[in-house]
Amino acid sequence: MLLLLTACSGCFEEGDGVEVTVTHEVATPYRDGGPDVVLIVLDTLRADHLSQAGYPLETSPGLDKLAERSVRFENAWAPSPWTVPSTTSILTGQHPLRHQLRKPGDSLSADHNTLAERVRSAGWHTLAWSYNVSIAPRLGHDQGFDQFTRNTGKVLGYPHAGRMTQAAIDWVGAPHKEPSFLYLQPMNCHGPYRVPKSARKNLLGRPPDGHFVYYAGPMHRILKGSMLSARDRVDERYLTSLREQYDTAIRYETDQIGLLIDAMDEAGRLDDALVILTSDHGEELFEHGGFSHGFSLHQEVLRVPLWVKFPNQAAELVISQPVSTVDVTPTILDVLGIADSTLDGRSLLPYLTGGALVPRPLVFDVNWPKRIVAQGVLDGGWKYQRIAHDYQGRRDLEELFDLGADPGELVELSGGEPDRVAAMRTLLDELLAQYKSAPAPVNMFPEMEHDQLEALGYLE
Ligand SMILES: [Zn+2]
Repeated sequence: MLLLLTACSGCFEEGDGVEVTVTHEVATPYRDGGPDVVLIVLDTLRADHLSQAGYPLETSPGLDKLAERSVRFENAWAPSPWTVPSTTSILTGQHPLRHQLRKPGDSLSADHNTLAERVRSAGWHTLAWSYNVSIAPRLGHDQGFDQFTRNTGKVLGYPHAGRMTQAAIDWVGAPHKEPSFLYLQPMNCHGPYRVPKSARKNLLGRPPDGHFVYYAGPMHRILKGSMLSARDRVDERYLTSLREQYDTAIRYETDQIGLLIDAMDEAGRLDDALVILTSDHGEELFEHGGFSHGFSLHQEVLRVPLWVKFPNQAAELVISQPVSTVDVTPTILDVLGIADSTLDGRSLLPYLTGGALVPRPLVFDVNWPKRIVAQGVLDGGWKYQRIAHDYQGRRDLEELFDLGADPGELVELSGGEPDRVAAMRTLLDELLAQYKSAPAPVNMFPEMEHDQLEALGYLE
């Protein structure tokens, strides 16, 4: 843990909607040299919509240079389908059932030893940009960062990614000896899929069809839980428009990340760097009758990209074994030689040299009472989920999917597989028991405030 003798804070406004907090820490001095670490969490980016994953549109050519020298885990899973639990796992190496930030407003207490704190105490200069208002100093996510730039506006009024990538590019190009840990979490792939006017034609040669309007009409009723299923009420043009807007946002955001990668390369800071690109969750686009994220545990909201460019890696590797974004922190610490045996995840470094980890089950959790309370497990290609209740009014439900035969989770098999359901139920209960002693976090939002914040778009 860092010893913070002077714990903040020269705060100043950078401009509309963004505030930079500089934390003056009296702690370990910076190292003189070492690999830069760049951790990029592209909020709401589902794995299968990247062109490198075989998507038919050129959604992510800006990432080609990074892809060519990364280990790309094509079967990577987030532990939870929404921002706070999942991002906190990326930033701590702990499963949501361990860090316990599971409900809107749950905060990260100072006794957590975060990735940024560990890296900072080892001598890295630590800088974060988060345009998601749920990953912010007020919820404790600035622990360990020398500088944290946050969105001061609404969750849906986020600044564009280019603003944070330009700030990161400026940092990369500035002369400094100490290694840097840069954390970037842009929001353009999150609804309402905002894209600057100048970039709206970049994917399709024309702007996306504007027929779909985020949070309007049926969308709003879905989010209020008053519509059972929108699938039959949404026509093909509506779905096409939604996909076009989402994909155009991916193109814009990945182009910006590509500019950062290019700048690192030109500054001679890419080869040695550890670069990790991932997401906190995906996005449901009516595959199961709903929309957005945080409403189910289906694969479209849990499967995310996870690319790791290790220092001096020159060739690409594609790994199909299931891994978790809980593995991000252990991987970074392993590469930097920072020992820690207290984490839930595992270092992915063995894959770089042709090794593999012994497969183990992945546990999923969502605990957003107004949307869904459910837990699930993935083991040996089978996915089991147990829903306590959800926004569609369903209660006490078990579901089973064979991902080998049905990767989209469209054929529910629990009725014909009672023995497998029983075994998966037992496995899930055993895994959940490991987290029983985790303490409850402090919730920053009094219960009455939830409705107001949600209505204003401050909550996802
Ligand atoms: Zn998110």
